[in-house]
Amino acid sequence: MKAVQYKDVESVMVGDVAEPTINTPDDVLVRVTRAAICGSDLHLYRGHIPGMAPGSIMGHEYTGIVAAVGERVRHVQVGDRVVGTFHVACGACQLCRLGQYHQCSHGGVLGYGLAFGDYPGSQAEMVRVPWGDVNLRKIPDGLPDEKAIFTGDILTTAYGAVRNSGLQPGETCAVIGAGPVGMMAVMAAQVMGAARVFSIDRDSRRAGAAESLGAIPVDSSRSNPVRRVMQATGGLGVDVVIEAVGGPPTLALAFQLVRGGGRIAAVGVTAEAQWAFPLMTALTRDITFRIGLANTHRDIDATLNLVAAGRIDPTTVVSHRLPLESAPEGYRLFHEQRADKVLLTVG
Ligand SMILES: [Zn+2]
Ligand SMILES: [Zn+2]
Repeated sequence: MKAVQYKDVESVMVGDVAEPTINTPDDVLVRVTRAAICGSDLHLYRGHIPGMAPGSIMGHEYTGIVAAVGERVRHVQVGDRVVGTFHVACGACQLCRLGQYHQCSHGGVLGYGLAFGDYPGSQAEMVRVPWGDVNLRKIPDGLPDEKAIFTGDILTTAYGAVRNSGLQPGETCAVIGAGPVGMMAVMAAQVMGAARVFSIDRDSRRAGAAESLGAIPVDSSRSNPVRRVMQATGGLGVDVVIEAVGGPPTLALAFQLVRGGGRIAAVGVTAEAQWAFPLMTALTRDITFRIGLANTHRDIDATLNLVAAGRIDPTTVVSHRLPLESAPEGYRLFHEQRADKVLLTVG
């Protein structure tokens, strides 16, 4: 089968590899229909994440049709149209039983190398999904794959961050970063009742796209985002900040935008190991700071419902639709910031 393989820093290829097989009674094989390139795939592409061996299959965002199931699988059947979660969990360990699927003692991330379970990825014609009952959801009838695919990662990641922020209806929210996850956070904050959502990005084109979703765009390349937000909030700052870039500069900005007693939820992926936490600011201004990767399993049913009901259209972030064979071009465009979200059509 064809699959997108990691070659070297800033280089992927589409190669021919053996089809996966059912290895355990909980495995499900999915014939992939759509795969997406994620911002976190770029961290691999740029060589920031160690443990990705040349030849490894990339990708963790996908939809498809169930092609085979192991003998213990009960909740999905051959022929079902499904979306998968980007991180896989066993469903049975103590942390999974506490609902902390993203902390599963046995889990990992598809297509993310040795440090994340060494699972072959989903940018391929077929993918083996471990613990298929836990890590797959049937796609509601009438909901196209190209919308459902976002619930397996970036929409649910953003939705989870807004949920973790404790946003209440009528509050103001600032989303730092208008990349695909930031745009999803704008939409999630809106459906959760934010009165106003500021979308901050230094790319004026992206700021414009956020405006078309109903956000208040703040082009940080042209104006000081702190001054803009303070002017618009009577000098208070926003109730909630969602940080969707990753890394020290935008984390520091979040502390400048939030009101006293407000909340920050950070979800941007970073390769930085450490950051100087603004201890005195957080202490004296009573700031709640939360950071963590998404617990997709907790929120995917809600995001599937929202997308199926038409309350959120995640395809607004799609800039390119390419065949699987053109994945190297898709990676290059995304890497050079000439693409927002690249969907790969498979088969
Ligand atoms: Zn992703
Ligand atoms: Zn587990």
